[in-house]
Amino acid sequence: MVAFEGVTKRFGDAANAFVALDGVDMTVGRGAITGIIGRSGAGKSTLIRLVNGLEKATSGRVLVDGTEVGALNEAALRGLRREVGMIFQQFNLLASRTAYDNIALPLEIAGLDRAAIRARVGPLLDLVGLGDKAERYPSELSGGQKQRVGIARALATSPKLLLSDEATSALDPETTRSILALLKQINADLGLTVLLITHEMEVVKTIASHVAVIDRGRIVEQGPTFDIFTAPKHETTRILLSSTLGTSLPEWLRSGVKAAPGAGDRILVRLTFFGATAFQPLTARLVTEIGGDVNILAGSIEEIAGEPFGTLVVAYPATPEVLERAARFYAATGLSTEVLGYVA
Ligand code: ADP
Repeated sequence: MVAFEGVTKRFGDAANAFVALDGVDMTVGRGAITGIIGRSGAGKSTLIRLVNGLEKATSGRVLVDGTEVGALNEAALRGLRREVGMIFQQFNLLASRTAYDNIALPLEIAGLDRAAIRARVGPLLDLVGLGDKAERYPSELSGGQKQRVGIARALATSPKLLLSDEATSALDPETTRSILALLKQINADLGLTVLLITHEMEVVKTIASHVAVIDRGRIVEQGPTFDIFTAPKHETTRILLSSTLGTSLPEWLRSGVKAAPGAGDRILVRLTFFGATAFQPLTARLVTEIGGDVNILAGSIEEIAGEPFGTLVVAYPATPEVLERAARFYAATGLSTEVLGYVA
């Protein structure tokens, strides 16, 4: 649906050019929800603005449905923007217009008559759950309701692609969840392709099937969200993930971890489970097969892109017999393990 081919974007003149995007290659699958995650200043907004022609690549190509965006003239760009909706962190609603009139705006610009506009805006208000708020002004709406108006407005011209620029970053966690659920529903019901940028791993984890990690203008890692979250390869991804997944150790445990074992110390191991069904029986078998002297110290089960993912931090005696039994158990079950250190 969207392809970036060797895309570079420089700002400023040649002498003090700032490279915001540096050789970006990436594709966004049709009908998927794809997330681009990175820290502030990584180049996310620049990347997304290339898709609807708000910025132009310095070199390389951006293709939407096979059409090169950078090669379009003004008239063709206006046509493209009807096919590509966009929602924003600060909603960008017109304060002087009601919810209804904000949603109607792109249809007025497209030249539809009042009856056609009414036939379109009514169902859109219902779709985003604001059927009773048509005549409210933005100042009379909550943040979540404003974003719902923004989503309805973005959908007014029946686009095939929706761009989301930090759409939930100004919202509280509960409202964020409801807006993400709405985006997911629209993606499923309308088959709309969604490309979102965010600095929050939680957003990607909740709705994106695919993710690209951007760092200083380069895509450092991309693929299915579950794979990237459970086996991150790049340091930037690991740092972004550390605050999200339950993979960081609780403070009371972390402070006591040693790199090398002392006499009588126990080995501290993190086990990773894929799939909820595997979790229960394996936990029970772990205790019986390694021996009764296993402590379970921390653990969690999360859902990543709809799939369960569990971690368990355990400690047991670092004696040759116990280590041997554990190794046999891990080999037989295919459990993924990581030695975190040693504890007294
Ligand atoms: P992000 O969305 O990840 O926070 P941006 O794409 O907004 O990052 O910005 C990437 C870098 O490009 C930043 O360092 C920013 O200052 C710079 N930048 C963005 N737009 C411009 C511009 N119009 N002129 C000069 N520098 C810009």
